[in-house]
Order: sequence, then C-alpha cells, then structure tokens
Amino acid sequence: MFCPFCRHPDSRVVDSRTSDDGLSIRRRRQCPECGRRFSTIETASLNVIKRSGVVEPFSREKVIAGVRKACQGRPVTDSDLAVLAQKVEETIRATGASQIDANDIGIAVLPELRELDEVAYLRFASVYQAFDSLDDFEAAIAQLRRDHQASTAG
Ligand SMILES: [Zn+2]
Repeated sequence: MFCPFCRHPDSRVVDSRTSDDGLSIRRRRQCPECGRRFSTIETASLNVIKRSGVVEPFSREKVIAGVRKACQGRPVTDSDLAVLAQKVEETIRATGASQIDANDIGIAVLPELRELDEVAYLRFASVYQAFDSLDDFEAAIAQLRRDHQASTAG
C-alpha cells in the first residue's frame, strides 16, 4: 500500500472498521515516512468455482443475468434484481467462505427470488434443480400453496 502523498511503499494501520453491510473493511493508515494519514477500503475476495472447474471472482452482474432470464415478462424491475443480487452476496459472504461452488449461488438465489416473484422462482428452480417432469413442478407448486396457507392461517 503506497502512501498517496510521498509514494512510500509501506504504511501502518492505525484503525480498522467493518462497513455496516459487513462487505468491506475501511482502514485508517499512517505513512511512517511523511507521517500523513489516509484511508483504504478493502473488500474480501470471493471466488466462484464453476462446474467446468474454472475459478472466477463473484459477480453480482452474473447473478442478475442468470435470474433475469427467469423473470422475462414478470413484474420484476432492475432495482429488484440489484437488491436480490446484493442479498445473495451478503448471504454467501456471511458464511465466511472465500471460495464457493456455483451451485451455492443458486441455493442462495432461490429464497430471495421466491419472495420477489413465484413464477420466476418456479422457472429458475426448474432449470437450477433440473426439474424433469410435471411432477417436479407439481411438488414445487404444492409446497408454495402449503406455505401460503400456513402464512394466511397464522
Ligand atoms: Zn508518506
């Protein structure tokens, strides 16, 4: 971490604070050379292992792109999708893992998408969970109905 004032290649951390969303750490640093202070924001890295074995950085844009297909023609806005992707990232980061399976993203998407739009949820689940018959759809719909009843009965 170079000092932005004198370009000294070292600095001392004087204070660390985690942001409210828990996704980044703000550090107050002091340069041992010129004595001036500056701050940096660090985001913990989070990598995704794809089915092909390729590792790439987690990307909210990719989560949104995957979910957007399931939302075609549904009343889901871009900002709904942005909020969903943020929640998914927070859920995954809350586990403390620095490397996750692409599958884990789908698992984190499902409950959030279900809150947003049940038709989009069924579409996404059918692809992600590889529904291969009408029975799978029926089971998923029956589960939604049971949960509706449970929530209206309560
Ligand atoms: Zn300096």
